[in-house]
Formats: sequence, C-alpha cells, structure tokens
Amino acid sequence: MSRPVPLAETWRQWAPRLQQAPAVALFSDFDGTLAPIVRHAARARLPLQTHKLLQQLAQRPRMFVGIVSGRSVADLRRLVRLRRLGYIGIHGLEVAWPRQPVWSRVSAAHRARIEKAKTDLEGSLGDIRGLWLENKSASVAVHFRNAAANALPRIEREVRRVHRQAGGRLKLQSGKKILELLPALGASKGTAVLRMLRELPRRLGARPFPVYLGDDATDESVFSALAGRGLCVRVGAGTDSVAPYFVPDAVGVRRFLRYLLTLRSG
Ligand SMILES: [Mg+2]
Repeated sequence: MSRPVPLAETWRQWAPRLQQAPAVALFSDFDGTLAPIVRHAARARLPLQTHKLLQQLAQRPRMFVGIVSGRSVADLRRLVRLRRLGYIGIHGLEVAWPRQPVWSRVSAAHRARIEKAKTDLEGSLGDIRGLWLENKSASVAVHFRNAAANALPRIEREVRRVHRQAGGRLKLQSGKKILELLPALGASKGTAVLRMLRELPRRLGARPFPVYLGDDATDESVFSALAGRGLCVRVGAGTDSVAPYFVPDAVGVRRFLRYLLTLRSG
C-alpha cells in the first residue's frame, strides 16, 4: 500500500490507452463511489447524472459496465435500475450478468447460519440506539454509523463473539461504519471481478482493458487483483491504497465517467 496520486495528474498517460483499447470493462463500487454515503444505507440514491452516464457507457460497443458491492444484487438492481449492467453482490457471493438471474454461492445452510447470527446479535445488541442489523439473506451487516461512539467497544465485542462461535464458517469483514458476517467461502470483490473478466472476451468480442473505482477497504481486493493490468482508482483523498491513483469524491468519479464516455464515443 502507498499513497495514491491524483488521477488528473496522469490523465494524459491513460486517455490514449482507454481510447485505443479494443474493449473496456468498467467496474465500480456503489456506496461512496457512485452514490453519496447517507445516514441510513437504505436511503442511498444514485444521482440522476451518474445514472445517465452509466446507461450511456453501457450502450457503447465493446464496453461492459459492472457494479460491485456488499449489497445484494436485488438491492443493487433496485437502486441502479439499469438492465444492461452486470452486478456483483455481497462481496462476490452473488453474480448476475446483464438481464440474467442472480447466481449465488450461498446455500440454504449458509442462510440459516446467517439468520441465527442475526438473532443472536439482536438479543445482545438490540438495545443500542441507532444500530441497524441488516439481514441481507447471504450475510448479516451491523451498521453502526448512527450509534453512540461509546457503544462501539460492546458492538465489536459481540460481533467477534458471534464470529468465534461460528467456528470458522463465517468470515468477519469491516468497512465504513459497518461490521459484517458472511459465509467463509473464500469469495471477495476481487475474485468475483476476475471471474467476470475471464468471461468478457467471449461476450465483447475482444479482451477488455479493466477499470475499477472504489472507496472502501473491501475494494482493495479488486485493486490487488487488477494490479499491473488495469486502471485502479481509489475514491477519497489521503488514504493509503493498492490503487495507484485517486479522485477526491463523487464529483471526480462523475468527471471520470464523462471523460471515459467521450473517449469511447469517437
Ligand atoms: Mg463503497
């Protein structure tokens, strides 16, 4: 990990590569990258301009657009409302190609285990104000953005206890103001993106040049997976990352998408 440099400073180097690549695969995280972080994750919205840009990009020939998130694919499809896009949900545990049903690695036994973990956490943390336990069916997310800071040690302790009790069958993952328990199946955003990339030359008729945008710790697995073979951009300034470049915020992301659209429209 090191400190990324501003993408704008090296843009001249990337523009011709993105323009001349036989195909481009643009993958992006959702929350904090395409959609602003809001107080309650259920109220997240994709800005209209970003929606339009994604739609236009996905309509370009030899261009693939995929959304990669900790949210479920069903949730992403409801929020993004673009059928031409590919979706990777629950940190790689769910995959859906454009207009295709969701393919999930999570079995009924996993779901039962997740449900049990959620019930357990409800029992031990249910009294904490502002805490939101979300059962995504394939995982349970503990959102503590709106909980008091002095409740955090107890939240962490309880989540770790439930994790320990699962005896290696659940994995504990942390992101921005969120702790999450999910089936330990060795999946990550990075492995899921690589799997989609392997399939893309057949669908696009050319080997795509990969681009990835993300703002959180869980996006680092994609940056690592694509190191040396694509353009990796971390969203947000002042954070160490495997990604060599950064844009400061969602406005920077939009500017990049607009520029990419221009380059692929020539
Ligand atoms: Mg994010």
